[in-house]
Amino acid sequence: ASEKYQLFESVLKWADGVRKLKVRANADVPDQARIARSFGAEGIGLCRTEHMFFAEDRIQIMQKMILARKREEREMYLDQLLPLQKQDFIGLYREMKGYPVTIRLLDPPLHEFLPKREDLMVEIAQLELTSGAPTVLEEKKRLLARVEELHEFNPMLGLRGCRLGITMPEITKMQARAIIEAACELAKEGTKIVPEIMIPLVGMVSEMKAQKDLVREVATDTMKRYGVKLSYLVGTMIELPRAAVTADRIAEEAEFFSFGTNDLTQTTFGFSRDDAAKFIDFYKTANILDSDPFAVLDREGVGSLMRTAITGGRKTRPTIKLGICGEHGGDPSSVEFCHQLGLDYVSCSPYRVGIARLAAAQAALAQEETEKAKPKKIQPSGKRVAKSKPVKKAAT
Ligand code: PEP
Ligand code: MG
Repeated sequence: ASEKYQLFESVLKWADGVRKLKVRANADVPDQARIARSFGAEGIGLCRTEHMFFAEDRIQIMQKMILARKREEREMYLDQLLPLQKQDFIGLYREMKGYPVTIRLLDPPLHEFLPKREDLMVEIAQLELTSGAPTVLEEKKRLLARVEELHEFNPMLGLRGCRLGITMPEITKMQARAIIEAACELAKEGTKIVPEIMIPLVGMVSEMKAQKDLVREVATDTMKRYGVKLSYLVGTMIELPRAAVTADRIAEEAEFFSFGTNDLTQTTFGFSRDDAAKFIDFYKTANILDSDPFAVLDREGVGSLMRTAITGGRKTRPTIKLGICGEHGGDPSSVEFCHQLGLDYVSCSPYRVGIARLAAAQAALAQEETEKAKPKKIQPSGKRVAKSKPVKKAAT
């Protein structure tokens, strides 16, 4: 087995010398980051911070925070979450040893953080039947009223992504503070971290600007308190068609783009990412679709929006950093497409990092072959040059 492993390692090393795309991993906790590094990930391309709050002790605080009507009350709960969140990031940074870490601000569908209406209704009915504990009953009724207030018929299109951070800016402030404080701590340990703070589900430049201004304000204040000067980036996911077609405007405020092809596929096709599996197989047998667009990147629709976003982003900010962190990031045919688009990196599940490294090398070789096969134009000087332009690369 160790011989096979060495062979595998040497093939991967060869691939690393050929590929142009960097390969990062999606990781939320230090264990995943360690696995990602062991497969050769060159950074974290997506840390979904909402996953950090599902532990029993944290979800309770999170729920109370979301349910609180007053900002001061929410801030009190966020103060309890801040040290935990800071430790989360310190853990990730330590594993990544200076490689870039992209941290996405909270992006849950809201209902994931709320108590279930049905459960509350049952509890209330039981309390009414047993006619016991009137104060508890009143409390439950108040809670149900608040849950009803926040209830959404379509949470995927509701108060999620940056909409949450805009309506409750104290959440963004807590997270920005934890990200920067953790990086300041690492700086004191002698490890330089350049956090990439990512704003989710941006559709309008005004959303991006509001969140970026808030993050910068908190970051400046935090660095002053620590007496540490850090470099950090603030960018966005491109996961809504509106973001793709207005990318030139969004790039005025965003220092990087990361394509969230899960949501971009959902919103481009209008297919629910949670329910489409119910008919996609039928669509394939009926020759309506030739593959599942959530597994293999759709080049015509989603891919075309990606091209539009890249052109727009580069028009405003020629060296804008570009990546992908949707599930497609680990699919070999999608990796090839991302290479052709000239992205800087793909980010995928830690276990797909090896495959992505190979796929990125294959894509680079395939492009070379195509370039070689192209008819050469004779220049007046007599020199032969390939017809196509090289893929424009941004600095990573
Ligand atoms: C995406 O939408 O592609 C993405 C990476 O974000 P999430 O899957 O968390 O919505
Ligand atoms: Mg998304």
